Amino acid sequence: MFDYMIVGAGFAGSVLAERLACVANKKVLIVEQRDHIGGNAYDYYNHHGILVHKYGPHIFHTNSKKVFDYLGKFTLWRPYEHRVLASVDGQLVPLPINLTTINSLYGLQLNCGQLEEFYNSKAEKIDSIKTSEDVVISKVGKELYEKFFKGYTRKQWDLDPSELDASVTSRVPTRINKDDRYFTDSYQAMPLHGYTKMFRNMLSHPNIKIMLNTDYKEIVDIIPYHRLIFTGPIDSYFNYCYGRLPYRSIEFRFDTFDKETFQATGTINFPNEHPYTRITEFKYLTGQIHHKTSIVYEYPTADGDPYYPIPRRENTELYKKYQALADSMSNTYFTGRLGTYKYYNMDQVVAQSLTLFDRLTQSKIKTELNGHAKQHT
Ligand code: FAD
Ligand code: UDP
Repeated sequence: MFDYMIVGAGFAGSVLAERLACVANKKVLIVEQRDHIGGNAYDYYNHHGILVHKYGPHIFHTNSKKVFDYLGKFTLWRPYEHRVLASVDGQLVPLPINLTTINSLYGLQLNCGQLEEFYNSKAEKIDSIKTSEDVVISKVGKELYEKFFKGYTRKQWDLDPSELDASVTSRVPTRINKDDRYFTDSYQAMPLHGYTKMFRNMLSHPNIKIMLNTDYKEIVDIIPYHRLIFTGPIDSYFNYCYGRLPYRSIEFRFDTFDKETFQATGTINFPNEHPYTRITEFKYLTGQIHHKTSIVYEYPTADGDPYYPIPRRENTELYKKYQALADSMSNTYFTGRLGTYKYYNMDQVVAQSLTLFDRLTQSKIKTELNGHAKQHT
């Protein structure tokens, strides 16, 4: 009998498996439908010997010391600060928009103080910021919104920014200086030997068994367990009883070139040209030294694996119905990007699963204490 059956071997499932097995001494079975662990963070060496990310570029960044230290038990880190250039008006300019971006695009020589005045002169006053369009226009105005955000967002989501929650474009801030890093988090680093190796270290514990190539539905009625943790799409768990939650997918096209470098930085975004949104060159992320180089193009699509929950009001309302069903269940728990329908980064998923672990073990302690108290009355 397993104490826990965990569906999904991504960050959400693996963190819980590791904590439950290692700290709470629970017997855990992880069931994963794919043929590998790591979920969407899975990486592998392609047949040229270059480390690539199967489900698109994954760059680790967090402000949480707790999350960084926790993952640091399973990997050494390679410091890495991601930089992105956007192809706009025939130039490659830094994104997030910064002093260099504005000076290059407008042929100006502003300093930081003047940059704020520049933004203010372009920004439009919007009383209540609700959508992804509002966020950008209220900061930098319509022209920059159209150059950098409108086309990219339409490609990525097949929706106009005005149809998406403010949280989506808020992920990309505006800089008031020359800082050209994509993220400003306190901890920015990549697992030195890759994500898959880190997952392997997390999951190699005698209390953890892993079943790959298996949809949990094939075995859930056969293998006995006490509690279930589900990290797949929450609507699929409930057989879509309220209808399907919308997800956005991506088709990844990989290519390898017989030269050391393909492009000038880790990622180049294409807001206004090509059917793909961005190209990432893996060696920038991994630091690998190799005489060839591999890249990935991202083509957003409606069909395919559910990669992105789509943040907009009607979807959140539908999710809340599933969440209410989930909350009414005993001994079944939902976590992760798909399990809670949240556009979460890896570190947020780790934090969420660490919190669920605390909840599970604290309520267990309470149950045991109550049982113990009853025996003595
Ligand atoms: P997943 O990794 O999706 O794991 C869920 C697992 O459950 C999957 O392996 C799935 O196969 C399995 N599963 C589902 N249903 C079943 C079933 N019925 N039976 C058995 N198994 C099942 N985050 C960052 O922090 N930085 C980045 O740069 C970044 N880049 C990203 C780029 C892309 C293109 C995408 C799509 C995401 C990116 N993310 C990034 C987000 C990151 O991938 C997620 O936050 C994280 O991987 C979520 O982990 P998870 O365990 O919740 O979900
Ligand atoms: N975005 C954009 N132009 C860009 C980069 C991002 O319009 O050049 C918007 C777009 O809506 C995107 C969102 O900002 O989906 C979040 O970007 P991020 O790079 O965080 O996306 P992710 O890496 O999660 O795909």
